[in-house]
This record gives sequence, structure tokens and C-alpha cells, in this order.
Amino acid sequence: MSAHIIDGKAFAEKVRHQVAADVTLLKNNHNIIPGLAVVLVGEDPASQVYVRNKHKQTLEAGMKSFVHTFSAETDQTTLLALVDQLNNDPAVHGILVQLPLPNQIDENAVINAIAPEKDVDGFHVINSGLLATGGEGMVPCTPLGCLLMLKDHFNGNLSGKNAVVIGRSNIVGKPMAQLLLNESCTVTITHSRTADLPAEVRRADIVVAAVGRPEMVQGDWLKEGAVVIDVGINRIPAPERGEGKFRLVGDVNFDEASKTASAITPVPGGVGPMTIACLLRNTVTAACRQAGITLS
Ligand code: NAD
Repeated sequence: MSAHIIDGKAFAEKVRHQVAADVTLLKNNHNIIPGLAVVLVGEDPASQVYVRNKHKQTLEAGMKSFVHTFSAETDQTTLLALVDQLNNDPAVHGILVQLPLPNQIDENAVINAIAPEKDVDGFHVINSGLLATGGEGMVPCTPLGCLLMLKDHFNGNLSGKNAVVIGRSNIVGKPMAQLLLNESCTVTITHSRTADLPAEVRRADIVVAAVGRPEMVQGDWLKEGAVVIDVGINRIPAPERGEGKFRLVGDVNFDEASKTASAITPVPGGVGPMTIACLLRNTVTAACRQAGITLS
């Protein structure tokens, strides 16, 4: 079998088009321009790239983008003061604090200071609670992107599928498992202490790998016809591209897995592009909810 490649780049473009259409409606019919504030502390190069991309795509979707940058030495009080200001700013509908934060700052304290209705990353404890109890909160962008691709692939119906999530982080693994459970999958969450990971993965109709270990999931771990969503983004040396060069790979051995899986997301070009598209989507959702508007 040669797996169908789930094209996250093309899917993300569709999501962004829908977001742009919704933004136009909000502007024309309700005089609202959704605004996203992104806060960056420090000079981490990867975070700088993410923030630049978020800024660019927010503007391209017709929304307002507010980027706040601080030095790596910034203290928690200063950051909390900005969050408070953004919470009270009616032009800001979504707030995202780029993680990781420097050691002197308690990430949870900052995340939980964001007004839950503006928490477009969906990491606030209220939003995790709403996700766990089936309420209407903000859903973390990366797992939301994975779910949208899975629902599209299965024509909207994931009911009864055996899903195995590898990784139990608050950012990806746990919310992913919750979303799959809400879709009536039978969900297994695996992690670094799982006794026999290949055996768990072998039972899965759906595998979501969010580990951060290059090409860890092997082709012979998969059940024939499994659908594989690879969240991992790992930089590995690529001497074939020249000295000191790197390339990106996922948590799944793509070449091997494509022989057994029925569908798989590539890295790059799979989950990655969906994450920012879902951030834009969440910002529109937040703006609508704050104004009490339902877009059809
Ligand atoms: P994390 O480090 O917080 O969590 C990793 C999880 O993997 C942990 O729960 C751990 O128990 C589990 N794990 C570690 N070693 C394992 C092993 N040998 N077997 C089974 N489980 C193991 O990472 P994260 O933030 O959840 O991110 C995971 C990966 O996804 C990373 O590569 C990250 O770069 C990527 N990521 C991608 C996007 C995107 O937009 N595509 C977004 C977020 C994270």
C-alpha cells in the first residue's frame, strides 16, 4: 500500500480563506476587525520565526496584529501588567504568549492571567476544563488542526475508531486525546513510560505522534491501513545538503510508514501549517463570541 498524503499546506490555505471571508463579514456587517496580540519574550530564533509568521498571516487574513516584544530579562510583573492591559483592550480579541518563556517567569501564572475568552492558544485552565467537560471553550491550535484534517479524511465521522496518541503534553497530547474522545473514538494515551509502545500503536486506526523524537515510530508498528498524523518537528543534520545543513523530520519514519498506512501527514507540510491557520480561526471565533455573533 502507498499511503495517501494528507496535504496540510493546502488544507491550511482553505482554512485561511474561510477565516478571511469571515473577517470580511465581521467588518462589513458588524464593524468588527478581529485583533490578535502576540507577546514574545527573549530572542529564541525559532520563536521569532513563529511570531513573524503569525503577524504576517494575521494581516493577510484582514485582521489587526499587535506584536509586543520584550528582552529575555523581563520580569513576570511586567508581563502580567501587559496581559492585564490586553485583557481590557476592546481592539484585542485574542492573546497569545509565545512559549517557552525564560526561567524567571512562571508560564502557568502568565497563561492563567489571560482572559479565558481571549486565550486563543486554549491553554488556560478554564479552557482545558471546558474541553474536558464538553463545554464551549477555546481549543489548542495544533490538536485542533489535527482534528480538522482527521475529520476531513473520515468524512466527519471518527466514531468507534481506535486512536492512539503518543505524548501527553498539555499543548498537544492531552487536548488531542480529549478531542478524539469527544468524537467518540476509543482513545489510548501513550508516553515515555508506556511499557510496549509498538504493541499499543499496532491496535490503532488513528495514530497521532507528538513526541519530539526524530522518526521514532516505525512502519512495522502500524496496523495495515492506519491513518497517521505526525505532529513532531525535529531538526536533524543533513550533510547531503552541504556542511552544517539540517532538514526537518517528524516523529514517524515517513518512508516506511507510508507503505503500511492508508494516509499520513508529511513533515514539513502537514500539521505545521494548520497550527497558524487554526490560531487565526480561533481569533475569529473569539471575536464572534465576545460580540455575541454567530456566523453561519
Ligand atoms: P513535550 O516534550 O512537551 O512532550 C513530549 C511527550 O512525548 C511527553 O509527554 C513524553 O511522555 C512523550 N515521550 C517522550 N519520549 C517518549 C518515548 N520514547 N516514547 C513515548 N513517548 C515519549 O512535546 P510537545 O510540546 O507535545 O511536542 C511534541 C512534538 O510536536 C515536538 O517535536 C514539537 O516540536 C512538535 N510540535 C509541533 C507543533 C506543530 O505546529 N506542528 C506544535 C507543537 C509541537
